[in-house]
Amino acid sequence: MELTRRTFLGATGATGTGALLGFLGLNLRPSEAFAAQAKPQRGTISTTICPYCGVGCGGIVEVRDGTIVNMEGDPDHPINEGALCSKGASLYQLHHNERRNQIVRHRKPGAREWEELSWDQAIKMIAERVKKTREETWVGTDASGQVVNRVDGVACLGGASLDTEECYLLAKAMRAMGLVWIEHQARI
Ligand code: SF4
Repeated sequence: MELTRRTFLGATGATGTGALLGFLGLNLRPSEAFAAQAKPQRGTISTTICPYCGVGCGGIVEVRDGTIVNMEGDPDHPINEGALCSKGASLYQLHHNERRNQIVRHRKPGAREWEELSWDQAIKMIAERVKKTREETWVGTDASGQVVNRVDGVACLGGASLDTEECYLLAKAMRAMGLVWIEHQARI
């Protein structure tokens, strides 16, 4: 049947939304999630939330011998019922992906070239700078005499690849140091 403005309005007005969907050839019956049939069973199972967007789909993480061996949609999660979009379906690659940068690169102020640092060097450098800036910008009381005990000179920006658990730990650590400027991309 040809879809014209008149036939479209006729379908919506006469029979309601359900009939309209049938009219348009859409089937909204609940689809069975593949994940419901393929739960991993070889290691320790944990649930998590996809970090990529505010929809907050649930996922299942399987860990064996200290490493993640599988991630998939959680069929028991009320939001996604086991389904994941193409981005969420690639969650496993957050942890296992040779194409992700594994090396710390540092460009000194004014320098044109990047130099590689070891993780030990980078962590030591970051810790020294955070400690120094924290001490220099610590605010014990504000202008009105109110005790605030905060750090004004350090901010924390989280990225979309931080999952719920990592965000929790990061927020705890930052607040323990007195940071108030804490932001994260995923908005969960
Ligand atoms: S699976 Fe897709 S829709 Fe669901 S939270 Fe992740 S990115 Fe968002």
